[in-house]
Amino acid sequence: MLILQGKVPGERHNRCMLQNAPSLPAKTLSAPQKALIKLGLKRDIDLALHLPLRYEDETRIVMLRDAREGDTAQIEATVTACEITQRPRRQLLVTVDDGSDTCVMRFFSFYPSHQKALAVGNRIRARGEVKGGFMGLTMMHPTFKAAGGNLAEALTPVYSTVAGLAQAYLRRAVITGLNHADLSETLPPGVPWPDPRGAWSLRDALRFLHHPTPDVSLAALEDRSHPAWVRLKCEELLAQQLSQLTAKRERDLLRAPTLKLKSKGLYGQLLKALPFGLTNAQQRVGQEIAKDLARSVPMHRLLQGDVGAGKTVVAALAAMVAVDAGWQCALMAPTEILATQHFAKLVGWLEPLGVKVAWLIGSQKKKERAAMLALIESGEAALVVGTHAVIQEHVKFKNLALAVIDEQHRFGVAQRLALRGKMQADGMEPHMLMMTATPIPRTLAMSYYADLDVSVIDELPPGRTPIVTRVVSDHRRHEVVERIGAQIQQGRQVYWVCPLIEESEALDLTNATQTHADLSEALPGVMVGLLHSRMPVAEKKAVMELFTAGVMGVLVSTTVIEVGVDVPNASLMVIEHAERFGLSQLHQLRGRVGRGAAASACVLLYGTPEGGRLSETARERLRAMVDTNDGFEIARRDLEIRGPGEFLGARQSGAPLLRFADLETDSHLLDWARALAPQMLDQHPQLSERHIGRWLGGKSEYLKA
Ligand code: ADP
Ligand code: MG
Repeated sequence: MLILQGKVPGERHNRCMLQNAPSLPAKTLSAPQKALIKLGLKRDIDLALHLPLRYEDETRIVMLRDAREGDTAQIEATVTACEITQRPRRQLLVTVDDGSDTCVMRFFSFYPSHQKALAVGNRIRARGEVKGGFMGLTMMHPTFKAAGGNLAEALTPVYSTVAGLAQAYLRRAVITGLNHADLSETLPPGVPWPDPRGAWSLRDALRFLHHPTPDVSLAALEDRSHPAWVRLKCEELLAQQLSQLTAKRERDLLRAPTLKLKSKGLYGQLLKALPFGLTNAQQRVGQEIAKDLARSVPMHRLLQGDVGAGKTVVAALAAMVAVDAGWQCALMAPTEILATQHFAKLVGWLEPLGVKVAWLIGSQKKKERAAMLALIESGEAALVVGTHAVIQEHVKFKNLALAVIDEQHRFGVAQRLALRGKMQADGMEPHMLMMTATPIPRTLAMSYYADLDVSVIDELPPGRTPIVTRVVSDHRRHEVVERIGAQIQQGRQVYWVCPLIEESEALDLTNATQTHADLSEALPGVMVGLLHSRMPVAEKKAVMELFTAGVMGVLVSTTVIEVGVDVPNASLMVIEHAERFGLSQLHQLRGRVGRGAAASACVLLYGTPEGGRLSETARERLRAMVDTNDGFEIARRDLEIRGPGEFLGARQSGAPLLRFADLETDSHLLDWARALAPQMLDQHPQLSERHIGRWLGGKSEYLKA
């Protein structure tokens, strides 16, 4: 691959600087070159596609009289005063006058050279954000140089950058990239265009967006509605659709064991043995999965279902199909508690049917682990449940055919690939079932998950009552404690989740320990347990067993219980410092209650910073929790608050996130790309390949996971 051919001006010895990058020791690269790589700007085309975040207008000089508050303005004026004051802190104060008005410039960090350049009587050209106020117009730390000189002909682009990479260097690099990159069209001629204003050529659009002429509406540039932007967004969305479709077609060429449902097999036996009947949604999804498994193409299915919808039993049924056909199944969960609980539940369901279940977690005793590994390798264990421990190198399956990943958003691409790699048979891939309680809104599903088949359990098991959620200030904590007492009296159980303290796990722990002590004291006669991630496994297990058995009334915990834990008798969830949690996380936590028939409640305790108020996003999150119990609605709001980057989490780490298109406002462009992609792949395979390569470079691998 050609990487950044040509020169970046201003750097010597850098012709073709990265062309042989793999063989160059890193230290021969300068700091800005390394920074470019860090930004993913390796090829000319990457630089050409690194579009401005915003623009600065250096094409004209503004009179101070006309400068509006908040505008970044370029002025030319004469210095009328220049002095250092010490109060309220040491700063350089410079007053300038351009004949229409005066302006005070403040510099908190400055050198003698500043004072020299800003001496009284000098004429300067300065740029900065204009603020009004009691003292008249001011500018903080404007940039400045001597007055005079040419004005820019185009708006000045401002690029996103990283430390060690100055705008000026980056601008020059972009120009070089733009001049050297192959910008020939990859869209097939004559494609219908989604924008009534017509299509710009890629070359024109890029040149324009990097250096727009001053007559253009800044608003259309900044909200990205300008036709040049539309052109780029279409290109980007098309690349994403093409690469996902390619991944899907490649997968369709792979082979997987065909697992046919047996009429009098384990599937039916498990159904009969369950203490409940499946919901319609579970039945439908079960059939969708069974149909996939019966094909010789590997399944790649995402199972979405709100918290408590009953995904585990669906996974167990799928496992029965595999086991009946003589193959093994693996179920991987993100935490030890969850894996342990799955194990207990599955053993309860399956061992009576004669299905051997093994389990693997990180902190297992050596002897037990060795025994489990042997069971897995010999094939005696038909189902293997565990944490990341399942994908470690020394774990050998006899014949894995189905891999289930619970809470899939908690795993990264590499981990999913590793699990897939546990299949031994040559040239074959296991079927993959990925489960999540974080539903993916439609637009995201259509773009980022376009290569997956999706099943949805859109119905909760019968008899559940909606959870009532309250937001309560931490000052009223004692009332909450009273309420706990009342719940326990009624034979119910309570979770108390301690705050998330991001900086320090140790603090998390202190906090949980303190709360545990407080509650034990406040609730005499009630068994209050403590659970946190650093406890030895045996101890965790013992605590969970006491809680599951209903002996323990209150479980104080750090966020280790976040996902999946299932104790139907628990009816009250208290989340302390709820303002520190993300929306999806709160929804997951709340989902620990409301699993039985009893009316359940969730109390979101919030603390305000000393004298302050909750931030707007924190308030929005808490409000959303009170407003709705619906996971899809929560996900939609979460997406709105956080944006797709964070929302998607691990699946997309390092993968091509959309940089330009916005899934909400550009959904018509997404529709266009979705319709075009299959045609283009069929009729113009070479153009398709070039298009994907141009936009995604080496990153499209991620989409295969
Ligand atoms: P999630 O989808 O969040 O993983 P679980 O699989 O843990 O949910 O199921 C939640 C609870 O509901 C479990 O106790 C499970 O046994 C129970 N359950 C699942 N399906 C049904 C059903 N159809 N009827 C009644 N209870 C069910
Ligand atoms: Mg679950």
